[in-house]
Amino acid sequence: MDSVNRIRDDVAGLWSLVKGLKVTGTCFARDQVTVHYPRAQVDNLRTFRGPIELVESPDDPRRPRCIACMTCAGVCPHGCITVVRKKPAKMEKGTEKGGGSDKGEAKKKARKGPATFTYDYTRCCLCGFCVENCPVRSIRFSSRGYLAGIDKGAFVFDLLEKFGEEERSQKPEPGVTSPATAG
Ligand code: SF4
Ligand code: SF4
Repeated sequence: MDSVNRIRDDVAGLWSLVKGLKVTGTCFARDQVTVHYPRAQVDNLRTFRGPIELVESPDDPRRPRCIACMTCAGVCPHGCITVVRKKPAKMEKGTEKGGGSDKGEAKKKARKGPATFTYDYTRCCLCGFCVENCPVRSIRFSSRGYLAGIDKGAFVFDLLEKFGEEERSQKPEPGVTSPATAG
């Protein structure tokens, strides 16, 4: 009777092995879904939820859409975002009443915006509160999926960097800093 039980166990074990090999074989024969990074990169990051970034203004892509309202910094549960509002540029004499492109350019420069916009990705849980609560839809998730660095400082981003020196050289309005760093 013992030998019958042993044979039954052996057959069950063998059958289990066959089933496991079937799964392995099926996966082995499928198209590869991973790539050998860094020799290759995936091309389906469009829907990837990467670190946040600022959205360009629709009427001037050299500037962010952000109006420095500080809402994102206030709702962020981890204090990842620090915004300092820029000191609004004064409209030069003659441009207030005059027409044409001078007036439009002066208006763009005079509007509210950030002097600095810092984002600490090391603390971000990608919850999306900042994206959902921005009143002017100035934040979105980027598709940056290949970030690397040798220390945490490499993941603290200046989100105005992509807008160039002009936006990064704005003077801050005294005392107007987001809740994350105020006090
Ligand atoms: S996604 Fe969430 S945790 Fe990350 S910065 Fe936005 S609000 Fe903060
Ligand atoms: S909520 Fe939007 S507009 Fe307000 S500071 Fe943040 S990014 Fe700028």
